[in-house]
Amino acid sequence: MGQLAEFDRNAKRLLIGGTLEAGGAAPITIMDPRSGAVLCELPEADLGQVQRSVGAAVSAQFEWSKTTPRERAQVLLEVAQTIDNHAQELAEIEARNCGKPLHRVLTDEIPAASDCFRFFAGAARVQTAVAAGEYVRGHTSYVRRDPVGVVASIAPWNYPLQMATWKIAPAIAAGNAVVLKPSEFTPLTTLRLGELISRLLPAGLVNILVGRGTTVGQALIDHPAVDMISLTGSVATGSAVLRAASKSIKRTHLELGGKSPVIVCKDVNVEETAAEIAASGFYNAGQDCTAASRLYVHRDIYERFIEQLIGVAASIKYSFQDDSLNEIGPLVTQSQHEKVRGYIERAQSESHLRVIQAPSRSTGGFYLAPTVICDARQADDVVRQEMFGPVVSVTPFDEIEEAITMANDSDYGLAASVWSRDSGLAMKITSNLRYGCTWVNCHFVWASEMPHGGFKKSGYGKDMSVYALEDYSVPRYVTFRH
Ligand code: NAD
Repeated sequence: MGQLAEFDRNAKRLLIGGTLEAGGAAPITIMDPRSGAVLCELPEADLGQVQRSVGAAVSAQFEWSKTTPRERAQVLLEVAQTIDNHAQELAEIEARNCGKPLHRVLTDEIPAASDCFRFFAGAARVQTAVAAGEYVRGHTSYVRRDPVGVVASIAPWNYPLQMATWKIAPAIAAGNAVVLKPSEFTPLTTLRLGELISRLLPAGLVNILVGRGTTVGQALIDHPAVDMISLTGSVATGSAVLRAASKSIKRTHLELGGKSPVIVCKDVNVEETAAEIAASGFYNAGQDCTAASRLYVHRDIYERFIEQLIGVAASIKYSFQDDSLNEIGPLVTQSQHEKVRGYIERAQSESHLRVIQAPSRSTGGFYLAPTVICDARQADDVVRQEMFGPVVSVTPFDEIEEAITMANDSDYGLAASVWSRDSGLAMKITSNLRYGCTWVNCHFVWASEMPHGGFKKSGYGKDMSVYALEDYSVPRYVTFRH
């Protein structure tokens, strides 16, 4: 982990106008979630640096908007290749900053990050619109897709590099410039990415700032020269973005929380299904907006299913000194650890809930044992609220209609999954679910071609897919009189 030694407070890490510089304001302490020790300190950007970043983005965007899709695609492909060339280094930094098992980052997250740039390199060259034609006699009309301008992008801490790529790739593919603020808890891979791509991109096209939400984040979203705000984060921050955007009518792109329902019908293979669902409920220690966190299981198989689920949860390997053994990491911060532990303790005090925790084997850091909460009721906090931890609730149901009603009874609408051998039944259920994504007989299956985004308080706006390009561009039409 030699690279991390460079992350000291004097290092020039912020990317502003194509130049690397140190933050000018007070340092933020970056923690090592595996040990709970301080990893490094990084000064956040001062307000002058926020100002200069936005100014640099405005200048760069004008020239970039004149490039052809082929020219933009070429740059995106070079970024993708650079990520692949630095896969090991980026994975080590991410694993260290987030506490994730290194092998998981290397196999799951880094390839997805480079693929995101590759996808948008191709997609930028094949944008579609209504055919040009004579929609009014004697006149020819055609549709253009133009960039929005300068995008302030704000990212969360659960998949920092991947979230950075979801923000940068579609925005620049569509001809915009970006000022990106990663989470104050996990900025390290995004800063390293900025350093690597600064050699490939026009100065000022992508700017990267370290800072907290209330300082740098707020200054960015309030900035009058920012045309669009793209946030992946909590519902509370989504509301703050909308308030800021309302002052100058900025475009917004919101990817907020989730509480994914999982409907398990009585005809499934109980052992296999419980194992697969556990893998997606506890992946990344449950710090995933689409985690399989809220299970509805048919009563006929309920006891057998929870017995299997508890068995799998108890077998999950975490907090081993030898990281190659670990399947999940700790929670990313002390406060997140306390928040999730609070949910578990409150559930333990409820007489109707069976709270089964895997044996604790923590050796320090922000680890939490995988936990299954059985017999949950629809009104329980563990069913209604996003915990973002290794906790899965299970609720029995008798009729499919009841399961669909409970699944849809949520403030969120990001992702869901349905498990059944009866494809007709599965199709009926999926058509009645109000979720941006529904997986059938699987969970967590991603493709850059598929749109990620939600309904209700999960926000709107799509990441990945051609729909993201649409979100980061504006359709205009031009009409010629003959
Ligand atoms: P958060 O909302 O606390 O922070 C997200 C980002 O917003 C951070 O960079 C933070 O500094 C910034 N921020 C906070 N207040 C701000 C303000 N007033 N102005 C500008 N920026 C501000 O969320 P988090 O705790 O980092 O991430 C977890 C949340 O993100 C969960 O709710 C999770 O569901 C959601 N999430 C959603 C998706 C998705 O695709 N829908 C993906 C990952 C995470």
